[in-house]
Amino acid sequence: MEKEEIIIKISKLKQNSIILAHNYQNPEIQDISDYNGDSLQLARIAAELKTYRIIFCGVHFMAESAKILSPEKEVLIPRYDAGCQLADMITLEELKDFKKDYPDAAVVTYVNSSAEIKAESDICCTSSNAVQVVNSLKNKRILFIPDKNLGNYVKSKITDKEIIPWKGYCPTHQKITLADILAARRKYPDAKVMVHPECTMEVINEADFVLSTGGMLKLAKGSEHKEFIIGTEKGMTYRLSKDNPGKLFHDLSPKPVCREMKKIKLVDVLNAFEKNQYRIEVDEEISRKAKKALDAMLDIKQDKN
Ligand code: SF4
Repeated sequence: MEKEEIIIKISKLKQNSIILAHNYQNPEIQDISDYNGDSLQLARIAAELKTYRIIFCGVHFMAESAKILSPEKEVLIPRYDAGCQLADMITLEELKDFKKDYPDAAVVTYVNSSAEIKAESDICCTSSNAVQVVNSLKNKRILFIPDKNLGNYVKSKITDKEIIPWKGYCPTHQKITLADILAARRKYPDAKVMVHPECTMEVINEADFVLSTGGMLKLAKGSEHKEFIIGTEKGMTYRLSKDNPGKLFHDLSPKPVCREMKKIKLVDVLNAFEKNQYRIEVDEEISRKAKKALDAMLDIKQDKN
């Protein structure tokens, strides 16, 4: 079936549904969605929407978070196998053992995690509010789950708490190296460098700005600068260029492509509508506990970045 034909079919079937798409999705998915955003923005939108059915174009934990926040809604993910390699880097047993080693610590869990890991946590965070979330806690010791890079970034910003990151990492962002950033600066000497906090500290330390994808969009829009080098998943430069005609966005490296985020194609979205697949279901007890951790995060007032 031709691309245009699929898009027409989707728009006919779409009534009473909303398509949400993460900023790392394929361009054609971003183009047919009702809302684009980072994981915090999409979680908030999913919770506030009055629509009964949400088609979530992202990876599994994101659609799961939408279902946890809105259990009364039907949440579909067009590819059930679109997972997150970072989320898979800690098991429930490992988290329970980690907690036993530090009984006085609060557990802060990045939303890139499964529902059962969230359910075992005190509070969730995203890449845009991680520092704020950790600062909001009274505990002096924090177990930061599962991303060591985001954990180390938070650690660099907070000196009055002991932050102990888990050993996980995002393989997509881990591919960006210091050599990449130095080469990109030489190639585009007038450009400002924005990187995601899932990058390693040596990359973060060399950047001009460290931001979530939502933060990158906001900064690019409001900035007087006209040229940027972008250090995150490749889908982001499409979104930035689309939203900011007249400004230039270069990939810091061609390497960071998230194979999971790129799994969803237009035909999968059409199949989601036609076959009502794949429904996200979360165990009631796990959902209740995970919602507590997500709500605790959503109750914190957002930074202005
Ligand atoms: S880019 Fe990394 S953290 Fe994001 S979905 Fe892909 S593997 Fe997970």
